[in-house]
Amino acid sequence: MLGVAHAAPTVAPARAQPRLRALVVIVDGLRPDLITTTRTPHLAAFGARGVVGGAHHAIVPTVTRVNASALVTGAGPSRHGILDNTIFLPAVDSARVLDTGNGAVMERADSILEHRLLTVPTLPDLLAARGLRMAVASSGSSGSAFLLAGAGRAPLVNTTMVRPRALETVVTQRLGPYEALEGAPNLVANARAVDALLRVVIDSLDPDVAMLWLSDPDHTAHRAGLGSMLADSAMRAVDREVGRVVAGLAGRGLDAQTTVFIVSDHGFSTQAGREAPLRQVLAPFRSSIVEAGGAVYLRSGHEQVLDSIVQTLQASPAVGAVFTHGARPGDLVGRSPGTLSFAAADWAHARAGDVLVSANWSHERNAADIPGWTALAGVAGHGTTSPYDIRATLLVAGPGIRRGDTSAVPTANSDIAPTILSLLGGRPAPSMSGRVLDELFRNRAPVAATRVRRDSAVASTTLPSGMRYRVTLHASTIGRTRYVDSTVVRRDSAAMLRPAH
Ligand SMILES: [Zn+2]
Repeated sequence: MLGVAHAAPTVAPARAQPRLRALVVIVDGLRPDLITTTRTPHLAAFGARGVVGGAHHAIVPTVTRVNASALVTGAGPSRHGILDNTIFLPAVDSARVLDTGNGAVMERADSILEHRLLTVPTLPDLLAARGLRMAVASSGSSGSAFLLAGAGRAPLVNTTMVRPRALETVVTQRLGPYEALEGAPNLVANARAVDALLRVVIDSLDPDVAMLWLSDPDHTAHRAGLGSMLADSAMRAVDREVGRVVAGLAGRGLDAQTTVFIVSDHGFSTQAGREAPLRQVLAPFRSSIVEAGGAVYLRSGHEQVLDSIVQTLQASPAVGAVFTHGARPGDLVGRSPGTLSFAAADWAHARAGDVLVSANWSHERNAADIPGWTALAGVAGHGTTSPYDIRATLLVAGPGIRRGDTSAVPTANSDIAPTILSLLGGRPAPSMSGRVLDELFRNRAPVAATRVRRDSAVASTTLPSGMRYRVTLHASTIGRTRYVDSTVVRRDSAAMLRPAH
């Protein structure tokens, strides 16, 4: 069993120099193409003094808690086991799916699973083995904060959840009581999280590694839409908070010591707005299945509906890529005709369901001229294998980092933890599928273009209607680390297929 630190936090006495060597700032849902010198001057200036990653990837499924878990484990869902924002864990609750956004639910699940909610070692565990420690400040959901803290293995100061509980006194002493004033933009919560990072995490807990989660622009853009005035003001506000973080580090003399990674957990797309199309497609099968995010679990005794579910999904224009179990572990194509395998999506975990489905997408532009549309319900959001949901932000600056550079080399959220271990003089854990981002460092060899391998997996089928469905998954690989770039679906109706001459 993994070691769990539930002891009271050690509150360090005031000291001249904090220990902090690495800070990860997660700006929820920040699309890199929306960072500009006028809208987000602090982010732009931060990128200009370090490296701007031009090919950063969210982990698939491109939702918040899958990526929070990737950041703290250095691995994707096939290893860390958090398969979507809602998960089905019969060992914890066989009747209902669990909301990974609820910290109390996640804490209980972790306890029932004997601290194996995350099924690989976490960064706090790996740091502790080397006498180092991590702490988290967050204005995201309590569940995302709990997962980001390695399922509570690191101290966490979330706006609605503080662990260990003994830390609550310190938080109240330093920051005063918190009135939960959730808003859009989420100004009060984000400012509170930055205060928690500077005055509780750095000044009191004094960790070697810290993570800060800011809930905007995601929180606001979900409701108001990408490029709306409200989402724009959320980006400007969160940018000012990033400015406060940068100034707070400088004021503590940390510029020459602390490497800062600014990432987003996923990208963002404009959405269909209608009643959930995927739910409508699956409605005829409701009595046979359990749905957890984009995952479909067949109830026991209902295995025979699998082909029918897959074909119904493939026939629906709202549906993009469909994934099923591969026949063999390494197969990129799924067992059901016209599907990709779970392995292709790095989703092949013992907790996986029977089908994983991604909504369809297009390059279509919205009213604010921002490209990227998906068939998911709602105003705007993320979660698909669209390149607009996958492409995320990476800005890195610090003492050993190249200055004023950009990188087109693929990176992902699972690369951050191994890179932090490396800059602290360690090596990535065997459980990590992410790689050390050597190309960011001044004194390390850049990744040669020839080392980036591009490949694609294709699956196709002809449906009973005569419609031909074809899905292509594009991926990039560096060494043993594989990045899902996008999936593209084509449907040709029988009428469009010309007989061969
Ligand atoms: Zn998110």
